[in-house]
Amino acid sequence: MNDYLTIEEVKAMFGCIAEMVIENESWLTQIDSQIGDGDHGIGMTIGFKAVQKQLPQLYVTSVNALFKEVGMVLLDAMGGASGVIFGTMFISGYGATPQKKYLDLDTLGKMFERSLKLIKSRGQAKLGDKTMIDSFEPAVIQLVKSAQTGASLCEGMSCAAKAAKGGMEASKMLQAEKGRASSYGMQSVGLPDPGAVSVSLIFQAMDSFLKSRRESINENDI
Ligand code: ADP
Ligand code: MG
Repeated sequence: MNDYLTIEEVKAMFGCIAEMVIENESWLTQIDSQIGDGDHGIGMTIGFKAVQKQLPQLYVTSVNALFKEVGMVLLDAMGGASGVIFGTMFISGYGATPQKKYLDLDTLGKMFERSLKLIKSRGQAKLGDKTMIDSFEPAVIQLVKSAQTGASLCEGMSCAAKAAKGGMEASKMLQAEKGRASSYGMQSVGLPDPGAVSVSLIFQAMDSFLKSRRESINENDI
């Protein structure tokens, strides 16, 4: 089995991410209505419905460009703070590696590492401030570490998805220091950060996509 995804496979992976986010709209909105302004699920759903619609028409020659185009669709469709944040998550990895026709673990780790750096420098949030960084940073660290130790894309993503979920769970105990939730003070303790939940969902979707791809390839090999 190839340890990388073609551009078409990455498009299919984005289709799975979109489904996962859209399915969880009411959960995301519910959390944001308790410690924010209640629009996070709505914004993410608008963004990923636009991605679903645009995906078939995104003609690109590299996976780097595909990530960038998806991020641009999110940025345009969502607007607001999270439009910039989640747009950047996919746009800003563009120049992190030379343009690639295939997505491997090293490329994914390097792209997300660069996006994380930019989100942190622009938004001035750090780990523990109860933002999407609490989920994104541990996931990125796992991707990069797994790539350095020669893990497969599937193994690396499995570790990253676990780290993203762990980070999202850990955000429950934190008090928000950035964004709208920061005005809720101690009231924000007990609930996860909505953006961290979204990041965790995005990584769970990528993980499930890779696992079912591996299973279907293994079945066809028999
Ligand atoms: P808004 O805050 O404009 O209503 P959303 O509700 O869609 O936007 O998104 C809120 C999420 O944005 C938060 O849960 C948090 O994860 C993320 N966020 C807010 N501020 C920052 C920041 N400075 N850095 C990183 N993420 C942030
Ligand atoms: Mg909000």
